[in-house]
Amino acid sequence: MENKFKIGCHLSSSKGFLNMGKEIISLGGNTFQFFTRNPRGGAAKAIDEEDVQRFKEFAGENGIDVILAHAPYTLNACSADEETRNFARQTFKDDLKRMEYIPGNMYNFHPGSHVKQGVEIGIDYIAEMLNDALEASQTTTVLLETMAGKGSEIGRSFEELQKIIEKVELDSHLGVCLDTCHVYDAGYDIAGNLDSVLSEFDSVIGLDRLKAVHINDSKNPFASHKDRHEKIGEGSIGTEAFSAIINHEALKNLPFYLETPNDAPGYAREIAMLKSLRR
Ligand code: FE
Ligand code: FE
Ligand code: ZN
Repeated sequence: MENKFKIGCHLSSSKGFLNMGKEIISLGGNTFQFFTRNPRGGAAKAIDEEDVQRFKEFAGENGIDVILAHAPYTLNACSADEETRNFARQTFKDDLKRMEYIPGNMYNFHPGSHVKQGVEIGIDYIAEMLNDALEASQTTTVLLETMAGKGSEIGRSFEELQKIIEKVELDSHLGVCLDTCHVYDAGYDIAGNLDSVLSEFDSVIGLDRLKAVHINDSKNPFASHKDRHEKIGEGSIGTEAFSAIINHEALKNLPFYLETPNDAPGYAREIAMLKSLRR
């Protein structure tokens, strides 16, 4: 059985892929997440093919395998405003094209906020965008992120994510990214009853869809729907729960990404701490 601990954190993509690779190795990790473009949207920098080539070599030599791209968090596929939906669709398609320069990786996005249109309409819009954007030949797995349920966010329950997946034709290109802060905030007690949350995930979505974990503590108490990340062990989820999470049979082979409020030395400390908790 494979038992490589795939651990990393969110990095700034402004200095390119090779530099992100070097940075994560220096922080003690072996995978990383990055924004495909400015998180508040806008045009993406052109892909530097030489940088990509040098990154691939560096990744091969240093044991970096899968990496995770994150769509801009302003992307809202189910906005009430048509222009915003079209912008989301164009950005998503453009990002997927760019992802093929680094084939075989993952692209995570927030399903979106339906504002006052209702969950059903929101789910339809999100599935529509996916049906428009996904291509049979793509090598990238698109991940729907579990959300905290702040405002009118879709993806606050496993059922909502499954309803999106069910409406997508090329669903073999879809997976789920479990954000520990978000699910706890949404009312899934991963600190008190991890096994039952994961078996619920399995019966609603299927654990084979689970492809990555965002590993964050939460500033707020259980089921707050606030989405405020905290450093590992300093929030309401707690170190003991994270030890159980990174060692759980259903999770331990997935890549884990820290999105905690940290500078580089803070991330290095958290990565080292999590490695020490790994069995
Ligand atoms: Fe996210
Ligand atoms: Fe997240
Ligand atoms: Zn969050």
